[in-house]
Amino acid sequence: MLVIAVDDGPAPLTVSDHIAHLGHEVVLAFETPGPSPLVGKYSAGAMFESLDEAGVEILQMAVATEIRPNEVEFAHAYSRRRFTVDGIDSVVLVAGGIGNDALYRAVSSHHPDTHLLGDAFAPRRMTYATKQAFELAQLI
Ligand SMILES: Cc1cc2nc3c(=O)[nH]c(=O)nc-3n(C[C@H](O)[C@H](O)[C@H](O)COP(=O)(O)OP(=O)(O)OC[C@H]3O[C@@H](n4cnc5c(N)ncnc54)[C@H](O)[C@@H]3O)c2cc1C
Repeated sequence: MLVIAVDDGPAPLTVSDHIAHLGHEVVLAFETPGPSPLVGKYSAGAMFESLDEAGVEILQMAVATEIRPNEVEFAHAYSRRRFTVDGIDSVVLVAGGIGNDALYRAVSSHHPDTHLLGDAFAPRRMTYATKQAFELAQLI
């Protein structure tokens, strides 16, 4: 199974980990020079440990250009050299997160002075959530 990551956060790692622990052979492809660049190196360690133990193969600087039956064609992110990964029975795209603002929507209809921030507003890094919260706290 091939996981194509077009998301710099932790989701491609956790999705691949889940699939690998279900018993699938997983290749995880990133366009970036390293996997999940927005995940801090101290947070990433446990995830890489688990992926390695589950035998997940990580491809880097690999931009998927065509998904074909049983194979996927890639281009190197910088040189554009083409190469193919074969033996692929399924492809999973991890291409961006969506904020879960259900709590905000439920509360804001009863309390107009409700604010949406952090990952519920847009999934990013911890610093965005805390900075946004700090700015809001100064305003209210
Ligand atoms: C595996 C992983 C690794 C990460 N690594 C990094 C990293 O290395 N560096 C970095 O900067 N960022 C990292 N992040 C992102 C970072 O965790 C988030 O950006 C940050 O936690 C967002 O803060 P938040 O307060 O908006 O949301 P959260 O931290 O998700 O807090 C929201 C809280 O609301 C609760 N909640 C949700 N809905 C309800 C409801 N209906 N009722 C009651 N409670 C509810 C949730 O249980 C949760 O406790 C990582 C994220 C993940 C998932």
